[in-house]
Amino acid sequence: MEKTPKSMRLHIALFGRTNVGKSSFLNMISGQDIAITSPIPGTTTDVVEKSMELLPLGPVMFLDTAGLDDTTVLADQRIRKSTGVFKRAEIVTLLCESGIWGQAEKNILAKAADNKLPVIAVINKIDKNAVAADFVSMLHNEGIKHIIPVSSVDNSKREQYLTEFKQALIDCCPEDFIQPPPLVGDLIRSGGVAMLIVPIDLQAPKGRLILPQVQTIRDTLDSDASVIVVKEREYAYMLSQLKTPPDIVICDSQVVMKMVADTPPGLACTTFSILFSRLKGDMRIMAEGAAAIGNIKNGDKILIAEACSHHPSADDIGRVKIPRWLRQYIGADIEVEVYAGRDYPENLAEYSLVVHCGGCMFNRKEILSRIHMARTANVPITNYGMCISFTQGVLERVLTPFPAALDAFRSERDRLAGQ
Ligand code: SF4
Repeated sequence: MEKTPKSMRLHIALFGRTNVGKSSFLNMISGQDIAITSPIPGTTTDVVEKSMELLPLGPVMFLDTAGLDDTTVLADQRIRKSTGVFKRAEIVTLLCESGIWGQAEKNILAKAADNKLPVIAVINKIDKNAVAADFVSMLHNEGIKHIIPVSSVDNSKREQYLTEFKQALIDCCPEDFIQPPPLVGDLIRSGGVAMLIVPIDLQAPKGRLILPQVQTIRDTLDSDASVIVVKEREYAYMLSQLKTPPDIVICDSQVVMKMVADTPPGLACTTFSILFSRLKGDMRIMAEGAAAIGNIKNGDKILIAEACSHHPSADDIGRVKIPRWLRQYIGADIEVEVYAGRDYPENLAEYSLVVHCGGCMFNRKEILSRIHMARTANVPITNYGMCISFTQGVLERVLTPFPAALDAFRSERDRLAGQ
C-alpha cells in the first residue's frame, strides 16, 4: 500500500447550498483543481473524495457534496448521496455567504446535530460580499463556534485561510479519531510475538495481503513486537517449533475452527474480524448480536452487509458460506439479503439480524452509524468473525482475550434463553 487507507483518514464533509463555492474552497485548500467548478449550480454530480495530508493533523479525506437545495434533474440522487455522507463524516464544514441563510443551511445544521457532528462555518466569497457583524452573531446563535471568512479565489491569503481552517479542524477533531480503540497492540507484550494465520486460497487477492492483515502486522510492529505469518496447514507445526509460545494467535474467520483445534488451552487466540469489531465499532454490541443467532427462526430475514463491493466468487463468504453456516446451525431455512459497498437499507426493522463484515474499508464513524441504526430499529447486529465463530461453537474461546465482550455475549445469551 502506497497511501494511508481512506478508512484511517479524518473524514471532513463539505456542505452548502449549490454554487456557494464548495469545490473552489476545496481546490484552495488542496492547492489543486480536483473538483468540477462552474458557475452553473449543481455541477458536482456525486460526492467527490479528495485525500490529502494536512499537517499537523495528518491524513484527511474531504467529501465534497452536492448542494442540499439542488433542484436539477438528478437532484434526488445527488441529495441522497450527500445525506449519506453524514453517516461517515467526522466534521462538517458548512459553506455559506454573508446574509444568505435559509432552510438549506438549517437542514445541514439539523442533520449535523442528529449525527452529533461538530460544525465549522466558512463564510465564502468575502471579496464580493463583505461579512456582516449580525450574520456572524446569527451563526454564533445557531451554536457554531468556529467561523472562518474566506475568499476561495484570493490566493494571496491562502496561507492565512489554511492556517485558520486547520486550527478549527484540530479544535473540533473528535476524541474517538485522535485516540481510537487499539487494534491488537494491547494484547501483545513489547518484545512478544503475534502469530497470524492467513489462508492463501482462490479468494486471496493476487500478490498482496488484505487490509486487516496488513493493519494487524503494522500495529504489532508499532508495539515493538514481532509477527509470524503462516498458512493454516503450517500453523500447528510452526507453533510446535517455537521455544516460547506467541502472545496471541489471530486467524482468518474461515479457518477459526481449525485454529482453535490446533491451539493449546490457555494460549490467547482470536480472529481478524473480531479485532476489527473493537477498532471499528462496538465489540460488546457485536458480541451481544452473536448471541441472538440462537433465537433465529425458520423464515427469518437476515441482512448481510459487506463494505467491499467486489465481484462475488463461487464460494463467497458473505453470499454463500455465512448463509450456509447459519442455516446449518439454525437447522431451518432463512431469507438472506446482501448489501455491498455503501448500499445499506434505511429501514432495518424487517430483519431479525444484521451480520456485518469487519468493515476495514470504512472509517469507525460509518460502522458506528450502522450499529446505531440497528440499535434504533431494535435489531441485533454482529460481525462476520463473531457469527462464524458462534455457528462453529468456538465464540467463547476467541472472545476470551476480551473479557467485557465475553461477559456481554454470555449475559445476552442467558437473557435470551430465559425469555
Ligand atoms: S469485506 Fe469488509 S472486512 Fe473484508 S476486506 Fe472488505 S471491508 Fe474489509
